Amino acid sequence: LELTFAILKPHVIKQPLAVEKIRNIILTSNFKVVKSKRHTIQLHEAESFYHEHKTKFFYKRLVTFMTSGPSDFYILAREDAIKTWRQLMGPTKVFKTQFEAPDSIRGQFGLSDTRNATHGSGSIIFILTNHR
Ligand code: ATP
Ligand code: MG
Repeated sequence: LELTFAILKPHVIKQPLAVEKIRNIILTSNFKVVKSKRHTIQLHEAESFYHEHKTKFFYKRLVTFMTSGPSDFYILAREDAIKTWRQLMGPTKVFKTQFEAPDSIRGQFGLSDTRNATHGSGSIIFILTNHR
């Protein structure tokens, strides 16, 4: 059993039907929801969460978007949770999703490279150090 950390980003939360569909994907993929919370990310939280991207061109855009409204946070449990959730999400970039994984979560609900619908942990270390 492994844990992963998932976020449904603000543009998704504005569409209750999209939230419902993604929750369905989570449950039908045999994840157990260990904890869930709706919360508007504060600026200091977004800055520490995305500090690895601080020098990237999209950083300011990303932080502004992520603090723009409520997000849903989930701790999910499953065998191979990290890899499985990232597979369900699909590629980071919206252009790539349209060619490689149109049925993935980002393929269905992503609007742009920044507003790409969901976050998923990259590794266990990352959960322990960054996702407090
Ligand atoms: P995440 O860490 O959110 O699960 P990821 O690991 O697929 O996504 P990262 O490279 O860690 O992608 O980027 C973190 C977030 O930064 C992405 O989810 C996206 O919102 C934003 N982002 C990444 N690349 C770009 C880009 N080229 N242009 C705009 N925003 C981007
Ligand atoms: Mg990442």
